[in-house]
Amino acid sequence: MVKIGTRTCLCGIVALSPRLFLALALLSILLGAIHSLLKLARHTDAKTAPQRLWRTKKASESYGVVISVIDGDTVRLLDGRIVRYIGIDAPERSQPFYMEAKRENEKLVLRKRVHLQFDVQRKDQHGRWLAYVFVKTSGREIFVNAELVKRGYAMAYTVPPNVRYADLFVRLQREAVRSGKGLWREQRDRIATYIGNKRTLIFHRPTCKYAREISQPNRVVFRSRKGSMKAGYRPCKACQP
Ligand SMILES: [Zn+2]
Repeated sequence: MVKIGTRTCLCGIVALSPRLFLALALLSILLGAIHSLLKLARHTDAKTAPQRLWRTKKASESYGVVISVIDGDTVRLLDGRIVRYIGIDAPERSQPFYMEAKRENEKLVLRKRVHLQFDVQRKDQHGRWLAYVFVKTSGREIFVNAELVKRGYAMAYTVPPNVRYADLFVRLQREAVRSGKGLWREQRDRIATYIGNKRTLIFHRPTCKYAREISQPNRVVFRSRKGSMKAGYRPCKACQP
């Protein structure tokens, strides 16, 4: 076998050594496959190239100083950029809990240098920068988007393709709801609040039209259904609290 392989005449080798010929054929098939794979890799590379670009250090992050807080999820930077936090949503100006969320955001970032990290899209349709925001507070780096959800001042709100921390936000929100933090506490209280009528001894949901008609002197607030029953009130038949 070894002897055959060492012969120098190619046609002789092919003619005389079917095994070597087979080996060469296999090698050429293998090389062809490697070539196609490389081509495919290059193709994939071209497709993901822009995404990769964002991930390089310069393109995927930035720094700025927060000069004003617009609400619980938007801030203005010293250089004029408006930054909308990715993956979360805080109450708007007209919504309950807006001020609380805004103040909490101020406590975290106002007049501080922040580190911005971008996802797939850098800006939204309003030209606001979409970012994950980090701030250093007494030597510790705080992930602001996550912290606001964790404290119950914003909701998890994922808009693809910017989904890098979506799972984290959902997890933090679940914990915040469970422990009744921030806006979740308010919501829980709203549900757990009942309005009793001292005259009729009937209690209602606060949204019931009969509850709204109760005069101030006759009005009594209960924190729980159980509490209203204990005080000798019965549930309204209309709103079924
Ligand atoms: Zn009612």
